[in-house]
Amino acid sequence: MKIIILRLGHRFIRDKRVSTHIALVARAFGADELVIDVLDKNIVKSISMVCDEWGGDLEINFVKDWKRFVEEFHGDRIHLTMYGVNINDCMDKIKSSDRDKLVIIGGKKVPSEIYSLVDYNVAVGNQPHSEVAALAVFLDRLFEGKELKREFDGKKRIIPQERGKKVVEGR
Ligand code: SAM
Repeated sequence: MKIIILRLGHRFIRDKRVSTHIALVARAFGADELVIDVLDKNIVKSISMVCDEWGGDLEINFVKDWKRFVEEFHGDRIHLTMYGVNINDCMDKIKSSDRDKLVIIGGKKVPSEIYSLVDYNVAVGNQPHSEVAALAVFLDRLFEGKELKREFDGKKRIIPQERGKKVVEGR
């Protein structure tokens, strides 16, 4: 099962940090690919530096026509929105299919057509918060926490400590 994240409404400069955080969360929480609706090479640069050092890989692509991309996606299309069905009430159904998943997150304003283009509108609680938080919680529920124990095979590796920091170099 492949997990692709589609980030809509990226704005240059203003959203650089948030979109980079989305890429970091996507990588660390087990997604395979991030697709953004605006070409911003800074995001690719930041994430490839992290992957180079800490391992793992996250493919990053850009789409001009996000609507067509969503329509042509083969798999389950899931839009994260505070207005959707509470995640506690729909996650079992989402998890029951091993089809690829397109997880769509918005920015300040989401095009209204998205609600009817998808298979699921999912709320990570029905209160407004953040696309970064929504994505992290969704992926963690999908993978049932197992993604947090994944090996990334990087140049550097953390040896977990109760106190202090221990980092070893080499695979
Ligand atoms: N009105 C927006 C909405 O539909 O959720 C909130 C905008 S918020 C600044 C940006 C993005 O964060 C949204 O497009 C959505 O993907 C995500 N988001 C915010 N709160 C959420 C929630 N409670 N559940 C799921 N996603 C949420």
